[in-house]
Amino acid sequence: MNEQTATSISHARRSSAATARTLLILGASGDLTGRLLLPGFAGLLGSGKVRPVRLAGAGSSGYGEEKWQERVRSVFADAEQKATTEGREVLEQVRASTSFHEVDVTAPGQLRSLIDSLEGPVAVYFALPPAVSEKACRLLVETGVPEGTRLVLEKPFGSSAQSARDLNAILAQLVPERDVFRVDHFLGKGTVFNILGLRFANRLLEPVWSNLHIEKVEIFFDEDLALENRAGYYDNAGALRDMIQSHLLQVMALLALNAPASLGERNLRDHIGSLLRAARVKPGYAETTRRARYTAGEINGKAIPSYTDEPGVDPAKNTETLAELEIEINNMRWAGVPFILRSGKALGRRRKEAMITFKPVPHLPTGFHGVDEPTRLRIGFSPETLQLEIDVNGPGDIFTLDRAVLATEMNTSNLLPYGEVLDGVLAGDPLLSVRGDIAEDCWRIVEPVLHAWEAGEVPLEEYPAGSLGPSSWPTSCDGGQLGAPVSSTPLKPTV
Ligand code: NDP
Repeated sequence: MNEQTATSISHARRSSAATARTLLILGASGDLTGRLLLPGFAGLLGSGKVRPVRLAGAGSSGYGEEKWQERVRSVFADAEQKATTEGREVLEQVRASTSFHEVDVTAPGQLRSLIDSLEGPVAVYFALPPAVSEKACRLLVETGVPEGTRLVLEKPFGSSAQSARDLNAILAQLVPERDVFRVDHFLGKGTVFNILGLRFANRLLEPVWSNLHIEKVEIFFDEDLALENRAGYYDNAGALRDMIQSHLLQVMALLALNAPASLGERNLRDHIGSLLRAARVKPGYAETTRRARYTAGEINGKAIPSYTDEPGVDPAKNTETLAELEIEINNMRWAGVPFILRSGKALGRRRKEAMITFKPVPHLPTGFHGVDEPTRLRIGFSPETLQLEIDVNGPGDIFTLDRAVLATEMNTSNLLPYGEVLDGVLAGDPLLSVRGDIAEDCWRIVEPVLHAWEAGEVPLEEYPAGSLGPSSWPTSCDGGQLGAPVSSTPLKPTV
């Protein structure tokens, strides 16, 4: 796609909705707001690409105007260091006009009155505990919201297909679907457009992108961070809900969908939805799913306690810190190809990538020696990288097959993940947001697994913190490092 077309699509996406005039953050004193939301917002403003908007913080306790002003001032001061000249002016304008509002969003009428008092359209960011967000939305149905209001909901969005449906039904009474933003902050523009660009702008890949040529697709999101004091959230979620349900299924959809006609949100999200509707976890969950929990260990020289000894963890909940699912996609293109999705914490190596393994060639000419390894394409996430692993001849004996790795870095957005989220919210472009039907479908896919795990059908295994995961899992092998050769298949004897 040439630059002009891309610019006009991007412009069309944005011009269909009015830019929000106020960003209202509910949960001004919260962790998300201080650690991720405000820095992302400040980076967006500092880029100079957006016009100033009003920033309003709100909370139920006595957090107060002074603390809010100080919070904004300190985050914006950091962002100024990297800001453009225009960006610095925007930061200053937004900082100077920010305000704090005391509100109990669970008290009838209070949130609506607050929205009315702000310059519209207002983007309402629910940086609140999920149950509080849900209650606030329910109450808003009684009063409605002014036209043009945008609602931004954090993960987890519901806790089951039914609860996601219920929440969607409430939201649908408030605003049109394109004004609802369900945040997946890991799904950055870099990830989305790099995958789509790679797949659909290269004649080389698309013809082999199917069950005719691909053996399996693995998507990893292994973190070397442990619980980081987030037991209150994580112990009720676990790796499957935290990452696979909410994020890795989206990445899988991008890797597997058919080519959309354009990059507009309708086209793209229709294709994501259609792909996910064809997906399910293969029944026989003891074979197609795995779960494990870390025990005491060491990561980068730091001692990590056993998960069950972390403050705030209830061992009886049997929360998994590492999860793996095998998904099947029942359509012409993908029937028979396993998509393996794995995510976990406290692992010895940070590994965020999609690894596409191709089938062996149908016939290798007689006379080659060495090891015939499968062709692999690896797409790394944050940092965004691309790596093709192929067989070549030599060195030395030209009849011997050896491995070559072609690697490059891919470009990415200059914004922090929450800067990208807020860019879409303010512009009224829901491209990166999870559409309601898709959120429900992601729950539909994982729900049978959650039930099987609750029923104890799949053992909860263990792995020491700092290891690669349970050693019996094929995905815990050492060969997965980006930049290094991976597992080998001995060459069949050639006569
Ligand atoms: P916190 O517990 O740190 O903050 C919750 C906020 O909600 C507080 O500011 C609190 O304000 C406010 N609040 C609670 N009840 C009310 C009420 N009745 N009326 C108005 N405000 C209220 O939570 P987090 O910031 O960690 O998480 C917020 C959301 O973001 C959650 O949905 C979480 O799942 C999600 N999330 C968080 C991430 C993180 O890293 N923290 C990452 C990804 C998602 P006050 O004390 O003034 O009542």
